[in-house]
Amino acid sequence: MIDECAQEKKQLSTITEALAHIASAINSVTETESVSLNIALGRVLAEPIYSAINSPFDRNSAMDGYAFSSTDLIEDQATNLTQAGCSWAGQPYVGTLQAGQCIRIFTGAVLPAETDSIVMQEQVQVEASSIVLPAHTKGQEHVRAVGEDIKQGDLVCAAFKKISAIDLGLLASVGTESLIVKRKVKIAFFSTGNELTALGQALESGKIYDSNRYLLSGLLADACYQVTDLGVIADDPQQLEDCILAAAKNHDLIISTGGASVGDADYIKEVLARCGKVDFWKIAIKPGKPLAFGKINDCHFFGLPGNPVAVVVTFQHIVAPALEQLSGVPMSQPLQLLARCTTALKKSPGRQEYQRGLLCQDTNGELLVASSGQQGSNILSATSAANCYIVLPVECNGIHPGELVRIELIRTVASSVMTH
Ligand code: AMP
Ligand code: MG
Repeated sequence: MIDECAQEKKQLSTITEALAHIASAINSVTETESVSLNIALGRVLAEPIYSAINSPFDRNSAMDGYAFSSTDLIEDQATNLTQAGCSWAGQPYVGTLQAGQCIRIFTGAVLPAETDSIVMQEQVQVEASSIVLPAHTKGQEHVRAVGEDIKQGDLVCAAFKKISAIDLGLLASVGTESLIVKRKVKIAFFSTGNELTALGQALESGKIYDSNRYLLSGLLADACYQVTDLGVIADDPQQLEDCILAAAKNHDLIISTGGASVGDADYIKEVLARCGKVDFWKIAIKPGKPLAFGKINDCHFFGLPGNPVAVVVTFQHIVAPALEQLSGVPMSQPLQLLARCTTALKKSPGRQEYQRGLLCQDTNGELLVASSGQQGSNILSATSAANCYIVLPVECNGIHPGELVRIELIRTVASSVMTH
């Protein structure tokens, strides 16, 4: 018995090993398309974008105030200037300034060539067209230089960047109208199990509602993915095979949930052995040990466990990085932080656990985390209540209150934490 356990532990792969294998097995989609900037959020740039212009385009004011030449300043004395005109944002002053003259200027307005300084309006005394700058006014302040944000020819966004809201603003600031992006990754998913009941129907004894398709449709909500919901497939080898072979023809990736363990009704393994080349992994994580990964013709395949919490954990730690690789962005690792655990956590050595936790911050800024409730892989309520995973390494033998633990923010929930 002891030997069997030792044998099984040897076969378990770590997440790192699984991801290294996935990285070598998956290539990014190569086809591209042109999209206009207003629908580019979340898409992956296929080419670098260089700026056609300087941003700012003109030297302009960072303040509402007065533009003057620093050569008019008198050391240690107030400076008397005469207002010659006004420069508005979008409507520059067109005249030529003489020595001793200044203009009224507003934020974003172009500076006349003869000026190099702005004084804030709150700092001057105004008497009709006479503007008095106080002693010790500094020259060459509050001026935005041409190209100080981006210079003509500069790289604005690197290739393979996923366009963020901030990138949309940046790209618009240099006049980018459309972009070449990677085409969307085509993903199909289905649930398996004779116990699964459609929403809207009353539950009979022994049946459950199908959580996983709804879960997956939420986890797959991303501008880079074009998603097909294939519905529920019964525990029937022929139906499974027909579904998988048809979906493999026009998708880049198929994701199934359930039916992948070793129960009598778990047919995924047998079906995949007939129609594809798929490996069954035992990854040393909890929840989510059994996981299938491979290919059916040119289509990648992930067979996730049936229990919904295991679906979330395996999706976020294994499928999501694989999807990054497919969609063309570099694979990323979740950021881990240290937090003080305020509750005891049960754990046996052997697998890395992703326990569901509630993270908050005390008034000193220290991160505190507590278990968010029951940790069974079917307990969606405590997972819904959680805002982080408490990541307990393979060898960990449980946590006492007060110990430091590693946490990862759960990617699909807001990144803010409660104060305590
Ligand atoms: P299986 O891997 O098919 O043996 O499923 C493991 C557990 O997950 C069982 O309790 C199933 O009833 C449950 N399960 C499988 N698929 C789903 C689903 N789509 N939604 C909710 N629970 C599921
Ligand atoms: Mg099943």
